[in-house]
Amino acid sequence: EPTLLWLRRDLRVADQAALIAAVHDGPVIPVYILDDETPKHRRMGGASRWWLHHSLMSLDKDLRKLGSRLILRRGRADTVLTDLAAETGAKRVHCLHHYEPWWRNAEHAVAKTLDLVCHDGNYLAPPGTVTTGSGAPYKIYTPFWRALSAHMPPPHPVAAPDAIPAPAKWPASDTLADWNLLPTKPDWATGFVKEWTPGEGGAKERLEDFLPHASGYDIGRNLPSDELTSRLSPHLHFGEISPATVWHHVIEAKGDATIYLKEIAWRDYAQNVILQYPDYGRESGRPTLDALEWRTGPDAASDLKAWQQGRTGYPIVDAGMRQLWTTGWMHNRVRMITASFLIKHLLIDWRKGEEWFWDCLVDADYASNSVNWQWTSGTGIDPNMFVRIMAPLTQSVKFDAAGYIREWVPELSGLDDAAIHDPDESGRRPESYPAKIIGHREGRERALAAARRTK
Ligand code: FAD
Repeated sequence: EPTLLWLRRDLRVADQAALIAAVHDGPVIPVYILDDETPKHRRMGGASRWWLHHSLMSLDKDLRKLGSRLILRRGRADTVLTDLAAETGAKRVHCLHHYEPWWRNAEHAVAKTLDLVCHDGNYLAPPGTVTTGSGAPYKIYTPFWRALSAHMPPPHPVAAPDAIPAPAKWPASDTLADWNLLPTKPDWATGFVKEWTPGEGGAKERLEDFLPHASGYDIGRNLPSDELTSRLSPHLHFGEISPATVWHHVIEAKGDATIYLKEIAWRDYAQNVILQYPDYGRESGRPTLDALEWRTGPDAASDLKAWQQGRTGYPIVDAGMRQLWTTGWMHNRVRMITASFLIKHLLIDWRKGEEWFWDCLVDADYASNSVNWQWTSGTGIDPNMFVRIMAPLTQSVKFDAAGYIREWVPELSGLDDAAIHDPDESGRRPESYPAKIIGHREGRERALAAARRTK
């Protein structure tokens, strides 16, 4: 009888422990289930759906080269798997572990009716295994990193199988076109197409392009004008490449790669936080800050819109928000600046920003998004404080963002380096570009006053 290979955010054939185990068992039926019911309000956002469409197309091609194919089904994952098992006579399901709370629930449900075997491989170390001496999970990143390092390097990646045995009869499959994953706003995806090649082949190319520049990463990673980061985040999120593969290649190319590896480790850290606090995407890690008087009502709604559309009058913020809308990705330093601006200067609940990123990012990831938003807002379980307020204009100068602003805010492309960070202040603001939505000092004072009132 065939075995089912249940694919989720692990859309690859190399270093795929569940695939290797399934092949070992005999004929394999790889299945991807579009499940909009199990995650409830966490159904995949628009940009992720675009990515998924292309990634599944690429995976089907890769599977066909190995004598297999991808079966597509839609519905509640546990029900679909049970039905598919009954249809095909399969009794066992192999998958990689996923730690989003809805996937953990689904795994429990599947295990009630089928022989579900979950494997590791989407993280450097299986979430939950890096603990203090007394076995407690870490809340703070730095000690987590220290403890994780003791488990490193991760196991060497395993190559894709030479062939995947096919079942005697393939079950029916939906077509991708049935799923309508591509955006209905026709212009939205044009910038995505230019920027990205979803799929395992695209992930490999992205890594190979990055390796020769990896030595510039330590200094360059904070400079949004220089494109020096790896841009592997959507590929890692969808599991088109394993973090162990990235780890070993980067070490080989770069020798001392600590700074880069510490960033990939943030991905592991975030997943460990989610394992401890499954509702972290909605619930603040510091309940005292729930009393904070976030702005609501029509003025706040119009400010939120200005932020989303990149019309705040702060060029670095607007450049970031427009990069996000156009390409589905934003530079990390600018993610911090834009998030902090929404939360502190506009005093809008971090959850509203998290939601927007969830819909717009091609790398939208429940753990990484929630943990980074709560880190920026100072509402999380880490020691970062709400009262630490980033100054967007200073950051823009410090990280030399002039080139980045010229690229994403063309109204300002005529301004020189001295004027471009703060067109209002320099008196050179073109009419087509908005005035500052709120002064820096005014925004800062309002946020600090709100924080004082929670005490
Ligand atoms: P690189 O600098 O090349 O880093 C390599 C890899 O390490 C990344 O691909 C990513 O997988 C991981 N990584 C790096 N920094 C972080 C971090 N701070 N947290 C978690 N993983 C990290 N990252 C996501 O993958 N999904 C998200 O939904 C997400 N939301 C974010 C929201 C906010 C407010 C902030 C401040 C950061 C967020 N990040 C998120 C983290 C980070 O911005 C991106 O991972 C990074 O910009 C991706 O670009 P890169 O692949 O070029 O990164």
